Amino acid sequence: MKNEFKKLIDISNKCASYQTKNLSKSEALFLLIDQEVNKLKNAGINFSFECGGIKYSLPLNIENIFFRPLFKMATHAKIKEANADDTHAVDFDVPVGTEVYSVSDGIVTAIQSDSSTGGNNKEFAGKDNYLYIYNEKENRIYCYRHLERFSNLKLNSLIKKGMLLGRIGLTGYVITPHLHFVIYEIDKKGKYLLKSIPIKFIQ
Ligand SMILES: [Zn+2]
Repeated sequence: MKNEFKKLIDISNKCASYQTKNLSKSEALFLLIDQEVNKLKNAGINFSFECGGIKYSLPLNIENIFFRPLFKMATHAKIKEANADDTHAVDFDVPVGTEVYSVSDGIVTAIQSDSSTGGNNKEFAGKDNYLYIYNEKENRIYCYRHLERFSNLKLNSLIKKGMLLGRIGLTGYVITPHLHFVIYEIDKKGKYLLKSIPIKFIQ
């Protein structure tokens, strides 16, 4: 299945590269991605990802992903309100209601949980429910965006790896439901306080 996995990653990357330039070309690749994801699922392949030397489980259960492209590398250059560079963000396209799990231990350092508005319009930018989870030991912040309203967590809540954080909603600027996921390194001297780190999917 090594070749199938590589194929999936290649198509995903290609799909992502079309996102800002040619949306219809990007969407045409969704079907191919679905096929590849289903092949891997049917073969019982589980995959995870790696980021700067640390291995993680996916923040979503692959069983919940049906006929949707699994992921695409996002091209959001920056998130202004957080002084963050989002070059290496990943969008997981999944249905509304899909459960989101924490990939690490940490503490909630930024949160919005009471929004119920969103859609395909830039005016919804920043109206999404989100969580920023800080892990001091790793000097990393984990960001999860476009969640449904939730009330189980607040600022300074302690998070355990594998914990259910919330569910995917249609909040903020979204064309289709997805989890916007980023791993940041904190760079106090850099242009951006939060610098995204590349994520590599592995089998
Ligand atoms: Zn995104």
